[in-house]
Amino acid sequence: MTAQQLLVRELQQVLREGRVLDGAQHEYLHDATLQRGIIGSADAIAFPTSTAGVARLVEWCYRHDVPMVPRGGGTGFAGGAVPVEGGVVVALEGMHDVRSFEPWAWRLEADAGVTTARVRALARQSGLLFPPDPGAAEQSQIGGNIATNAGGPHAFKYGVTGSWVTGIEAVLPQGQVVTFGGRVRKDATTLNVPGLLTGSEGTLGIITAAWLRLIPAPEAVVLVLAAYEDVTSGCRAVQAVIENGLVPSALEYLDAGALAAVARTCPIELPPTAAFVIIAEADGTTDAATALARELSDVLADDAVVLEQISATEAASLWRWRDTVSHAVTTQRGGKLSEDVVVPVERLAEAIEGTLAIGERFDLSACSWGHAGDGNLHSSFLVAVDDEKERLRGESAVTEMAKLAVSLGGAISGEHGVGLLKREHLPLQVGTAEIDVLRSIKAALDPHGLMNPCKKLPSSQAREVVDRPTG
Ligand SMILES: Cc1cc2nc3c(=O)[nH]c(=O)nc-3n(C[C@H](O)[C@H](O)[C@H](O)COP(=O)(O)OP(=O)(O)OC[C@H]3O[C@@H](n4cnc5c(N)ncnc54)[C@H](O)[C@@H]3O)c2cc1C
Repeated sequence: MTAQQLLVRELQQVLREGRVLDGAQHEYLHDATLQRGIIGSADAIAFPTSTAGVARLVEWCYRHDVPMVPRGGGTGFAGGAVPVEGGVVVALEGMHDVRSFEPWAWRLEADAGVTTARVRALARQSGLLFPPDPGAAEQSQIGGNIATNAGGPHAFKYGVTGSWVTGIEAVLPQGQVVTFGGRVRKDATTLNVPGLLTGSEGTLGIITAAWLRLIPAPEAVVLVLAAYEDVTSGCRAVQAVIENGLVPSALEYLDAGALAAVARTCPIELPPTAAFVIIAEADGTTDAATALARELSDVLADDAVVLEQISATEAASLWRWRDTVSHAVTTQRGGKLSEDVVVPVERLAEAIEGTLAIGERFDLSACSWGHAGDGNLHSSFLVAVDDEKERLRGESAVTEMAKLAVSLGGAISGEHGVGLLKREHLPLQVGTAEIDVLRSIKAALDPHGLMNPCKKLPSSQAREVVDRPTG
């Protein structure tokens, strides 16, 4: 029997439940970064079905010096769930119970492996809303959403996943089961440990369950689509929405390159001069949504070459169209390297133009789209996947993009996290003292560095200084 077979047999005995497979399960060795060539290797894939099972597994792995990688739906864009040091992938998909759902109190407690779409659907069936709406909701899991602090279009009004978590149950790296927070809507008792685990990308422990806050679903949704001939007027319109105190539930944009990839399928006819599109969503009671849509239309009208209000019935098809952008851009050259940077909203135009300039510098087609109201861009550089030189130029371009974001007063990740891909970019944004704090927290919980190694923190402290704006 090989060492790997022995490990699988041992883990099965430790787990007592669920399955343990050997490490040769391709689909558990990568996430959504596969097209960037990111694939790992593992000794075993474990599928616990209870918190007690996770705790037994983790405790055993820690005692035997075996690295562990928590895995949700595997839709991450940062390589966070990719096992890079071997060891055990802990797949949470077998933990898929909704532990409690009390619609009258707007709250739900779910195992970490429940999908985002299921939480949203359950809420909807009771007239409620779980606002976080990251794009791969059918596959992504609540545990993964919390671990990445996922966003999505509606984060502009409603905030990112962490805003909807009131409590977390987790298994810490050495196997202790802890619960912080719970069904109460506020709790000032302890340090904000749920906040610490939120966005920790599986480096501080395995989230096994969460208490989620819901709200009554808005009665109506009205969309406004506006198109402009250039980035400057489009971004001016985004800023005008904010300056006028309007609060759309989503405020999205597509630049000319992103638009070119999907213009043919747009449900609204766009003139060839359209080079920047804004989608703004108004929600609330029917009267409030209608009134807000009217105000949005007034503000977005300046310089617009198209301005249309879209009713609730057509809104779904426009959102479906918006969801196709990432895939359509990818298919143009077979692959893309995307950054998920965020800048202060008043610097959005510079970041969008900067994306194009960087693309030009590295001889790559480039475009961006994203959550305009949040200043969050998905800046993308198109590459042919089998062209190694082009791919390397793409890697340089995304590094330049990270530098640009920081120099504009922004951050290297708005919502996808750092994972494996951006760990070496962290010192562009975060100073040595701050990295030391992060390392101390990691060391306090995981002194042997076995929980999701090589993620979130840089491998060295080499600091590349980027001039940040002052004031
Ligand atoms: C088509 C598409 C559209 C997307 N759109 C968006 C978007 O709009 N907004 C957005 O923010 N993201 C988006 N994403 C990225 C991705 O869906 C999110 O990051 C999501 O939150 C990842 O969840 P997951 O369950 O797939 O996690 P995984 O990919 O499995 O893991 C992500 C990270 O979380 C850790 N992790 C997973 N589960 C746990 C757990 N239970 N405990 C501890 N750590 C855990 C992993 O170790 C890893 O570091 C999109 C991805 C795709 C493919």
